[in-house]
Order: sequence, then C-alpha cells, then structure tokens
Amino acid sequence: MSVYDKYETVIGLECHIQLLTKTKMYSNDVAEYGALPNTNISVVTLGHPGTLPVVNSKAIEFAVKLGIAVNANIREENQFARKNYFYADLPKGYQITQDKTPICTGGFITAKLKDGNTKKINLTRIHMEEDAGKSLHDIDPFETLIDLNRAGTPLLEIVTEPDFRSGEEAYAYLTEVRKLVRYLDICDGNMEEGSLRCDANISVMLKGAKEFGKKVEVKNMNSFRNVQRAIDFEIKRQIDLIEEGKLIAGETRSFDAVKGITFSLRSKENANDYRYFPEPDLQPVFVTQEYINKIKKDLPVLPDELFNLYTKTYKLTEYDALQLIDLKEVAAYYNKLVTFTKNYKSAANWLMGPVKAWLNERALTISEFTLAPEKIAEIIYLIDEGKISNAAAAQSIFPELMNNQTKTAEQIAKELDLLQNSNSGELQGIIDSALSKFPEKVTEYKNGKVGLLGMFVGEAMKLSKGKADPKLLNQLVKETLEK
Ligand code: ADP
Ligand code: MG
Repeated sequence: MSVYDKYETVIGLECHIQLLTKTKMYSNDVAEYGALPNTNISVVTLGHPGTLPVVNSKAIEFAVKLGIAVNANIREENQFARKNYFYADLPKGYQITQDKTPICTGGFITAKLKDGNTKKINLTRIHMEEDAGKSLHDIDPFETLIDLNRAGTPLLEIVTEPDFRSGEEAYAYLTEVRKLVRYLDICDGNMEEGSLRCDANISVMLKGAKEFGKKVEVKNMNSFRNVQRAIDFEIKRQIDLIEEGKLIAGETRSFDAVKGITFSLRSKENANDYRYFPEPDLQPVFVTQEYINKIKKDLPVLPDELFNLYTKTYKLTEYDALQLIDLKEVAAYYNKLVTFTKNYKSAANWLMGPVKAWLNERALTISEFTLAPEKIAEIIYLIDEGKISNAAAAQSIFPELMNNQTKTAEQIAKELDLLQNSNSGELQGIIDSALSKFPEKVTEYKNGKVGLLGMFVGEAMKLSKGKADPKLLNQLVKETLEK
C-alpha cells in the first residue's frame, strides 16, 4: 500500500458559464465574443457616475432554465449585491452579483464515469453575476492593455458541494455541465474561449477522518483535461506535504499547463473583504411559479431523458446512447430518423458509422448534413428486407444518394445494379447449376465433408453476379444439399 492510499481527496467545483444573451447583464451593450476591443462599452459598462443598471430578463430566463434542469429550488425574491474590489478591468470598483439570495439552491447533476457507474454531484447554489473586463498582458511588451468588452457580460456561477473524490469525477461532471448548457442553449460551453470556466477547491484527509482538510483553490485551467491534471497534481502535492509533517496553507493557486504543476498566486489568510451589501440601484427581481411553469413547458428534452429513452426503450447500449447524445444536433437527427424506422440499433449504427465518416471526410458537422432522415430509414428498410447488402449500402448506395438526394435509395440500388436477388425460385435455378458443376464434391459433402458448403455458396453467389441475399443463399444451398 502506498502512502497515497491512506488519504481521501475532497473536491468542490465553482464553474462560471457565460450566457448566450445578445446584451449584457445590466445594460444593453452587445455581449459578443471576438468584437474589436473596447467597442461594446457604453457609459453603464464603464461605470460612469449617474448611470443605472437594468437587469437583463433573458439572463433570468436562462438561470431559471438551468435551475429547472438540475432540479434546484428557484428563489422567488432575488436581491442583487455589490461585491467591492478594486481592479483595473472593473471600472465600477464593484461587481454586481448575488450574495445571500442566489437564484437557485440545491439540485444535482449526475456525472457518468468511465467504468459505467454514475455519481450524483449535489449543487450548493447557482447565482447570477457580471463578468469583469480582460487585462491583456501578452500584446504589448511593456504595458498591460485592457479590453472592457467583456465587462458586464452575464454569468451564472454554479457551485457544487464538496462531493468529488477524484479528478476523473470532476472531468465527468464538467462533461455533463457542458452538455446540459448546450442542450439548454444558454451557453456555448467553449472552455478554450473562456465561456465555461472552472475553479477547483481541493483538500485531502486521512481516510475515515471526520473533518475535511484545509482546501486550496486552483484557477486558470482552460480544458477539462487540465482540470483533471491540476487536481491530480494537487492531490499528490498536498499528501507529500502532510507526509513531510508540514501544514497545507489556505491559498489560491494557478495551473501551469506546460509544466503540469500548480503554483501559489495568493494566500487566503489575508483574503479580501468584499464588503457585500445589497445593490441599491436594482429592485429585487421576482420569479413567480407561473413564470417557472411557462419555462418548464418549453424546456427541450435533456440529455438524461434521452439517455433513458435510448437505453431503456430503444435498448441501445450505454456507449451508443452517449455517443448519440454527446452533440444535441446528432441526437436531434437521430430522433427524427427513428420516427421513420423502428430499427433503433441500425439507425444508431448508420449515424455513428457511414454518416459520421462521410461528414468527417469533408470536415462538416451534422448541422450541414442535408440528406433527409427518411432516406437513411429507407436504406435500413432495404437492408432489413434483404434487398440490398449492408456493404453495398454503405459503400455505394449511400455515397451515390448523397450526390442525388432527390432519388430514392431503391432507385439508386437499381441503377447501380445492386438490388439483391431474394426471389427463391430464381435462386434455386442458380443453385442447381452451381451444384451441377461439381458432382463429385456434392457426393463428398453428402459423405460428411460439410466444410465444402462455403465453396458452393461462393459459386452460386458468383453466378448471381453478387446480387443474391447471402443469408438466404446460404440457407437454400444447405437445404438443397441435404435434400
Ligand atoms: P470559500 O468561502 O472559500 O469561497 P466555500 O465554502 O464557499 O468556500 O466553498 C467553495 C467551494 O469549495 C465549494 O465548491 C465547496 O464545495 C468547496 N469546498 C468547501 N470546503 C472544501 C474542502 N475542505 N475541500 C474541498 N472543497 C471544499
Ligand atoms: Mg464561497
């Protein structure tokens, strides 16, 4: 047993998601990624004296959507608060956030682990706030530049309970968060562009200990993989320190993705006092049950519901289900496809197989896939009826159909001469002439050399010019020989 096995890790995550609203949280400045620096900055964003914030109702709607999706309690009376601190990219000198009255409390997200198990991660709270601007340290060699376009863009902060026990669980949770916000259409979930950000709080304690250890907060991870790497590094660092008889310092650390290490940013011992107080310029926002019900009614089908439908009703494997659900556009296509075919497994195989390959070869996404789902369903039907073979469908009929999308799959099969012969009367003639070529072999077969069956089937297939249904042919050849 290694020393590391003596310890248990405790992790809580704080995620910020940037909302896909057109305008900012408390002003009508445009909130868009990638605009020219300092172009979306009215006097409200700049915090000029005398300007007043106004709450973006779309941001409220998005918070309620997320709250419903994670089974949270949604607060009726929402107060905003000022969190005061001075920073160059925060021109007001404070951030308008929620302190004692987060819009959502409780709820949970179910993380799906690699080994097929799930882990329920309880949420502490979700609250609304605004983002700060961006300080750019790497454009000018001497000066820090400031872009205030991001100042005031709406965020939701999702705080979890200290429920994670490993970096892998954190990774799985983040995957679910991203999927969920994309399905809800409230955030693009793009961690590289910073629209999904995550800070990890990590502590270690001896297994079975009553009290959690002192936590360290790690920031600045720009991918799920790096969150997991930072956590794994931090677990080892903390255990090593404790084993050396040292104490863990309550601090905020940053992750260096190149070196794969965390390093201290600041101590928490002399942490900021943010002097929270109720925002005097904003009235509380009331969220009525009626409003919640209305949003609930229009909520899209969510990944977990699809997962249940696909695995329980459609009997897909969990692996297939997760593949389909991963991107909501793929799931949407699949959902349409299975209104035209009841062969759920085949439909999944076609999407994740030939269709995906066709798109990948052209660097296209499923949103750019123009073939009507009925056509894929028709191909599946023709295969199931034994009229075309799987190989012919995938290699010839489907690509040809992509070039002639108004034709039917059957027309194309006919034109390419790929319709299989499944007429047993006609087949019998072919089989008889195949067998008549090898009278001695037929006798050998009848004397027990059953391994010859494949040879006879091959010969008959050749005579049918490859159009016979292999299953039917096999069966008929066997029957003929054993008559
Ligand atoms: P702070 O006051 O430092 O912001 P909070 O109590 O608000 O701390 O918790 C912030 C995050 O840290 C939450 O996700 C919470 O679950 C997590 N957390 C709290 N205590 C611990 C601990 N001992 N170890 C790991 N994570 C913790
Ligand atoms: Mg806190």
